[in-house]
Amino acid sequence: MNIFERIERTAREDPGRLAFSFPDGKLTYGELWKWSGAIAAWIRDFGLLPGQPIPVYGHKSPWMPVCFLACVRAGHPYVPLDVNMPAARIGDIAAAVNSPFFFETELLTDAPEEMERITTDKLETILHYADEMEKQGEPYEVDENACCRGDDVYYIIFTSGSTGKPKGVQVTAGNLEHYLAWSETLTDRKREVFLNQAPFSFDLSVMDTYTALATGSTVACVNRDLLEDPAALLHFLKDEGVSVWVSTPSFAELCLGNPAFGEQELPTVKRFLFCGETLTGGLSKMLMERFPDAEIINTYGPTETTVCVTAVTITKEILEHENLLPVGKVKPGTGLYAVDKDGKRLPFGSKGELIITGDTVSAGYFKNEKQTRTHFFVTETGERAYRTGDLGYVTEDGQVYVSGRADSQIKMHGYRIELGDIEKNLVLLAGIKEAVVLPKKREGKIQSLAACIRQEGEEDTSYVRRKWIRQALGEVLPSYMVPKKIIFLDRFPMTGNGKLDRKRLESLL
Ligand code: AMP
Repeated sequence: MNIFERIERTAREDPGRLAFSFPDGKLTYGELWKWSGAIAAWIRDFGLLPGQPIPVYGHKSPWMPVCFLACVRAGHPYVPLDVNMPAARIGDIAAAVNSPFFFETELLTDAPEEMERITTDKLETILHYADEMEKQGEPYEVDENACCRGDDVYYIIFTSGSTGKPKGVQVTAGNLEHYLAWSETLTDRKREVFLNQAPFSFDLSVMDTYTALATGSTVACVNRDLLEDPAALLHFLKDEGVSVWVSTPSFAELCLGNPAFGEQELPTVKRFLFCGETLTGGLSKMLMERFPDAEIINTYGPTETTVCVTAVTITKEILEHENLLPVGKVKPGTGLYAVDKDGKRLPFGSKGELIITGDTVSAGYFKNEKQTRTHFFVTETGERAYRTGDLGYVTEDGQVYVSGRADSQIKMHGYRIELGDIEKNLVLLAGIKEAVVLPKKREGKIQSLAACIRQEGEEDTSYVRRKWIRQALGEVLPSYMVPKKIIFLDRFPMTGNGKLDRKRLESLL
């Protein structure tokens, strides 16, 4: 059964079962199926070109999953956009996808003018119309054969791009099905309550949302207000009875700051699924102390290979013997190996760039042939492959270790950031000639960003100027990408062979 058939089956057998729970709203399987069907019928009536992606803007509300499902049931990929994205970046994405409309489930100021806004009022009208039609015995529903399947693109997630513009990773319906066939084996496959921490614009959210929908489970979604209120957050997690915790390690670390965060308050949590950044031994040990009966699973994978492709249960034995925790063995249908600088496959245990092959490797970047050709290729045996840019190695028994990056992509508090993205946007600001962005680390972990800037002529270096730069950058980049510290320099230090001396720059931070 594909994902649509599975959701429909739950909706028909148990329509009142909770699919999503938000701090200010709930959505049952029956509502999810019925409402997405009516909106999908409206999309079909609109008459978009085949495969036209549809942006869905908002945060954590029932309208988001309803609109996602509506798009794919109508045969169109959706593009999830979260409220943490500034209007200018949304404008870039809107221009790239060129859709005549977008779903605006939260108010978006400065929305791109060329796209019609489909607000929640409009969505209510569509649902009302569908109800009326049903009363008259003419259900307003989409033809089930219209849905995305196989090689059709199912969603496009935009991530930070080194060119200064975000790049859209296209994940097909087939990629998602292959991922789900494995991800559901990471849980008990019975009705669970999954924690959704990540915004829907991050592919980590696919792990909780779709694994839950595939298994008739519930997704308990945390919104940004809850993230700022540890006591209310704990309350929510307890009330919802979260059983499968899905988050970045950074988020769990944040929660551990609350002494009440533990088994006593959250007795239902039986499993932690981590992805998106390095899971440390220190964090694992603390979690084992607070949740002695829960399982901790480390998973790894980039958006380009659909959520994650490896998994391992972190045991006390692993913690005793390993400094760098493994990320696990690959799922069925996936290959993973390390290569040297010339792309030659390395023997087990040798460190190099990690290549991922197989059935969850994305269809490439949306309308970006150049980047697609750089990062994706087809192997000699005809499999799709992705150059991850991650450094690591694979042991003889298939255990994968990730030890760093071959480029300047970083992860900070779980966010994927290309430092080049920030640098390119900085030099577009008035008076800035050159910019280098560096991560500031504490105990090996990136805590914040600093920008070293060379200005044109005798530009202002005052506090007001720094504030202006940060503000101007915040209009084009999400706030987590705006460097906290700004240092003005007359010239950048160079190494003996004329390259930028990053080490010396770092010593200035
Ligand atoms: P994203 O596309 O946002 O999921 O980010 C993918 C990148 O996050 C990977 O290429 C890695 O650099 C990093 N990453 C994901 N999972 C892990 C993990 N378990 N351990 C270390 N790094 C990870």
